[in-house]
Amino acid sequence: MKRKTKPIQYLIAILISILLFASVMLLMQHVQKLLLSDVRLSLSEIVNQNKDVISSKLTVELNNLNLIAQQVSDKIDQTGNTDGENIKKMFLEYVKKNSDESLCYSDLEGNAVFGGGQEVNIAGRKYFQLAVKGGSNVSEQIVSRLNGEDVFVIAAPLYYNGEIIGTLQKQYPPKEMHELCSISLFSQQGSMYIINSDGYIFVSSDDNYKESSNYYRTLHLTDADAATSLAENVRAGKTGFMEIKGDGKSTFSAYTPLKEIHDWYLITNIDTSVIIPNVNTVIRLFYVILILVVFAFAIILFYNLQLKRRQQLNLETLAFVDNVTGGDTYTKFEATLTELLEQADSDTYYILAFDIDGFHYINRFYGFEIGDKILKQVYALCAEQLQQGELLSRTSADCFVAALKNPAASWLDDILCKSVTIEDIIIYFSAGLYPVKDKMEGLSLMIDKATLASTEAKGKRFKKVGIFSREFDETLAKNEHLKQEIDRALEESEFTPYFQPKVDIYDNRLVGAEALARWIKKDGTVRPPSEFIPISEQTGVIRLIDWAIFEKTLQFLRRNLDRGVHCVPISVNFSRSHLFDKEFADKLKEQLDHYHVPGHLIEVELTETTIFDNAESINTFIKHLHNLDLIVSMDDFGSGYSSLNMLKDVDIDVIKIDQAFLNSATDNTKQQIIFETIIQMSKKLQLETVVEGVETAENVAAMRKTECTVAQGYFFARPMSSDNFEAFHMVKGETASAFFVP
Ligand code: C2E
Ligand code: CA
Ligand code: CA
Repeated sequence: MKRKTKPIQYLIAILISILLFASVMLLMQHVQKLLLSDVRLSLSEIVNQNKDVISSKLTVELNNLNLIAQQVSDKIDQTGNTDGENIKKMFLEYVKKNSDESLCYSDLEGNAVFGGGQEVNIAGRKYFQLAVKGGSNVSEQIVSRLNGEDVFVIAAPLYYNGEIIGTLQKQYPPKEMHELCSISLFSQQGSMYIINSDGYIFVSSDDNYKESSNYYRTLHLTDADAATSLAENVRAGKTGFMEIKGDGKSTFSAYTPLKEIHDWYLITNIDTSVIIPNVNTVIRLFYVILILVVFAFAIILFYNLQLKRRQQLNLETLAFVDNVTGGDTYTKFEATLTELLEQADSDTYYILAFDIDGFHYINRFYGFEIGDKILKQVYALCAEQLQQGELLSRTSADCFVAALKNPAASWLDDILCKSVTIEDIIIYFSAGLYPVKDKMEGLSLMIDKATLASTEAKGKRFKKVGIFSREFDETLAKNEHLKQEIDRALEESEFTPYFQPKVDIYDNRLVGAEALARWIKKDGTVRPPSEFIPISEQTGVIRLIDWAIFEKTLQFLRRNLDRGVHCVPISVNFSRSHLFDKEFADKLKEQLDHYHVPGHLIEVELTETTIFDNAESINTFIKHLHNLDLIVSMDDFGSGYSSLNMLKDVDIDVIKIDQAFLNSATDNTKQQIIFETIIQMSKKLQLETVVEGVETAENVAAMRKTECTVAQGYFFARPMSSDNFEAFHMVKGETASAFFVP
């Protein structure tokens, strides 16, 4: 199954990064704005201070002129003569006395005389026109009519008796005016300009801006927008602040009108780096940190996503790669086949199920390491035979399942029907095929059917791949029906023990019995265990059957104890699945207590394989049973692969020797030796032995040879109903032997 990587996760990660970046940027801009407004405030303060300083300096100059005008008008007062010639005389006298030749007097018509006596007409000059109307003022930079040099002029009206009778002027060379207006700003790092409303610079502290050049025009070259907005604001007489950008640097600029002097404006500029050097550094630092943080965040985020992806891949590997075979797991097989089946025709595929005969014992004898090696090689061997679009996986233990397109592939015969040798062990398989007809049937049912078909090959010497046919379908349906029937039979208490006596072969004494389950139907038919035990083991219902048989055995014992009959121990079969029930011993105790049956009257039969499989934990299990005074026996000894050696490690009380063993022991010397050895060893280990399936007098003779005592078999008695067994009990004793002899 293809796993899609999730781009959405990366998209979210990118979005988060962008959002984080954007929000920090906004925050930074806000901080920057706050800082800027602080800067604006302080710069406006500075420009205002400068304005005050310049205004007051110019006011002082104007006041001086007014003072002179006062003195001249006082003189006029002494003579009482307001004649123009007289005033001129007064003025020249004052000049001479105060030796200030930069002063100039003009009558109302603009006829002016300078301190040095030179005469010019200034009627056309703006400063004169303002002064003659009563306005003290400072002129723009103009060219002197006297010597053709650049000058500034401060002009004030000359009053006499409240009436203007002329004007007084004082000339300032640009340098002097410059000194008057310049003040040191920001430790010489700022610059200051005085411009008129047309942008002409009168005073500049900056060498780049020459006096009389135009501020707007020069500014236009670096920042046209700033120049336009400044011109507009100046014309409107506004006070303001702006940031000028250009020439790779940024300048804060504050401007305010010098109201005292008609249309003059004071502009104070300061390089941003001067006024906020730290701020800029801090902001830059912030940006660097921000970028680093966002970068780090993004890296961590992506790393995490990668990690998650890798973890997911690992999980997928765990889920999809079988760690034993290195091939596909069943999960992978199921997912891929489901996809393939969706696209394929219904009859494209054949499901093949196979397992290794007796793998269980291979594992036990050769160890799990060899077992795993075999599984791995079997997988590899079969996987390399697959064609395009065919699949193989191990479902559990030694069970494999494949989806094939070609049911006649030669490897089915060559491998699965013959044998392979791995690690010097000859491996046989049992395989079954199920042709898929309806792809909607469900994979597990298909595998069940293939597995069912494989049972045809089980235990056969010459193997064939079993093919699922209609009969199997019928078996499946029957099994399904049987399962339901068993459930019902349990509810209706149809399972009952039959008892088969165990006899001492020397005196025919009844020494015990085995409870064997029978399903007695309402119509009286008796069904043997072979018809319901295997399927009950599959479904797990066997445990309920065991408990039912156990309880009925207890009831039987109770009844006989109550009647004062001498009771012999009865063994009850418990399936291997009880081993995993932690409450098994408690449940046994509860029932024993309920029926007041002493533990020594019950023998718990566990099959050889149960004990063999759980050699390590079995003794703890047995200990719990011994604590209840129960007898524990190992059933079917010799039917499997148990080693004689393990007998000494397991804490059982009785071994029941399998019937098959006994039969072959009679005509095979080697088997007989083994049989004898088992008996001898059991004796040494103080284990009781019961020989099962004693059918003939020869069997009994063989037992006598090895000094075996207890037998269970048709030769003595078949399993019988409780009523019959009760009667059997009664005749037990001296007369019993007559009863036994067939
Ligand atoms: P088992 O535990 O080995 O029981 C002995 C089987 O051998 C019985 O078969 C018995 O009838 C049969 N048998 C006894 N003497 C002879 C003889 O001389 N010749 C031959 N050919 N057979 C003889 P049965 O009753 O059909 O039971 C078959 C198996 O079903 C039992 O084998 C046991 O494994 C299982 N079984 C029976 N009852 C229960 C039960 O209540 N619980 C569980 N878990 N399994 C049970
Ligand atoms: Ca048994
Ligand atoms: Ca047995």
